[in-house]
Amino acid sequence: MRPAAAFATGVDRNPEMFRFLKPGRPAVTDAVWRTMRRSLPIVATLAEPDAGRLRVLTDAFLRAKSIEGAGGFELDEGSRVMVAAQACIPILALGIEAYTGWRSVIVYPGGFVSRGTSVDETGVEHEWEEARSGESWFRGPVVLSWEDVAASGRLEGYNVVIHEMAHKLDMLNGDANGFPPLHAEMDGAVWYRVFSDAFEDLGARLDAGREAGIDDYAAEGPDEFFAVTSEYFFELPEVLDECYPEVYAELRAFYRQDPLDRIAAAGGR
Ligand SMILES: [Zn+2]
Repeated sequence: MRPAAAFATGVDRNPEMFRFLKPGRPAVTDAVWRTMRRSLPIVATLAEPDAGRLRVLTDAFLRAKSIEGAGGFELDEGSRVMVAAQACIPILALGIEAYTGWRSVIVYPGGFVSRGTSVDETGVEHEWEEARSGESWFRGPVVLSWEDVAASGRLEGYNVVIHEMAHKLDMLNGDANGFPPLHAEMDGAVWYRVFSDAFEDLGARLDAGREAGIDDYAAEGPDEFFAVTSEYFFELPEVLDECYPEVYAELRAFYRQDPLDRIAAAGGR
């Protein structure tokens, strides 16, 4: 999840969340694709063949998932493509199969209120209410705030879409815990050590009042550390590589991409 930076609106789950594209119909027109590329630096830095691959994946995403507005918000084709294209950046080298087991993206105009109950260690049930800019439900929908989607993709370190998609990848092997299913050539023990060390370092820095280097929301838990460092990996790779080079290397192996190289090859930011 992502806490809301701004205001909160009431939550009413969209009853028309399952509206799919008919097979054969082009999901992304040339004009909409060009406009989206121009407005999103994170996509504009993609050269061929990555750019073409992103378009194919975006098309597949729009066919497989519904992206619907809620809370009075309506999305046009361009807005859907903005969401879908950014959602597909993490899976550029993994394929659409990585987003298996769920099919709905719900978009509110701004931050939304999420409500639930939890039981504490003494067995007492608490009702909670939290303003959020995004959340991912296990085998359920991804919920986003449009205000935050619009602030994403500028290569400035913030991307609510990539954040929530990282949670979805993390949840492929159960609860979000910062330990997604790794590729065969990766070493789970190395992943665990690298992420645990970096997570502890961030906590120690914040406790000592020192500069965190990355968004301190990453210190909320291992799941948020993975999601926030994934945002930096794609949006501000040089900052993540500077703060936690081993985390950068693990994410490069996991996502099978190297945004540092990509942005440099595109002539920098
Ligand atoms: Zn989160």
